Amino acid sequence: MKNKFIDIIKFEDSGLHCDNSNCDWENKGIHRKLWDKFLNSSCPKCGENILTKGDLNRAKLFFFIINICNKVGYFFQWLGWKPNPKFVEAYAEMHKEIKIKIK
Ligand SMILES: [Zn+2]
Repeated sequence: MKNKFIDIIKFEDSGLHCDNSNCDWENKGIHRKLWDKFLNSSCPKCGENILTKGDLNRAKLFFFIINICNKVGYFFQWLGWKPNPKFVEAYAEMHKEIKIKIK
């Protein structure tokens, strides 16, 4: 069954990238569902840790909050609210901290 409600917060996957400022390794294709497998793994280019436990925990908390916001959004849509699809779009970048840009 198709979900007729839209996500009020759309999350763009940022993939993973290296925290070393002298290194440009990144892989935007690594979906967040796979991040657990990359915990404490080293950068293929410079060997730096690309995903620490702290990064992963912050990311999981962030996705959890987005999920709750979207569920609240579904509820209001169920009540008849018609959100503008461009209402909130979040982009998060994992780089020791999470940055959220609202477009
Ligand atoms: Zn690196």
